Amino acid sequence: MSDLAPKTSSSLKKYVGGCHCGAVRFEAEVDLEEAVSRCNCTVCTKMGGTTTQAPPASFRILKGESELGEYRVGDSRNYRNFCKHCGVQVFGGGFVEELGGDFRSINIGCLDDVDISKLTIQYWDGRYNNWEAGPRPQAWPLRAA
Ligand SMILES: [Zn+2]
Repeated sequence: MSDLAPKTSSSLKKYVGGCHCGAVRFEAEVDLEEAVSRCNCTVCTKMGGTTTQAPPASFRILKGESELGEYRVGDSRNYRNFCKHCGVQVFGGGFVEELGGDFRSINIGCLDDVDISKLTIQYWDGRYNNWEAGPRPQAWPLRAA
């Protein structure tokens, strides 16, 4: 198999994960052969998380749905869910046209048995909703006000 072989959905693999205290558990199919994402938006800058997308149909909360809090910025269609006990932001979701509509965002750090040193990290310029620029290997700078 060449590296140039077209990617197929077969590189999606099911992972299980959860928050730090164990109150929340979930499963999702993600493709960790694809680069995972960091973002410079005002929330991601403070959280420092590394995420990837999961097909919404593959995502399932296994335990602790009632233990989840939700955070949205203003009237955004996008949200983040965190464990009310340990505070870990486990996943999020919403709707971004440029990302293909409905999405589920998974915190890589919450997946069981994933070694982030083995993954490729890419950076999005979310601070400026610059989604059409796509991700790149270096973090994006903040722009002068
Ligand atoms: Zn927890």
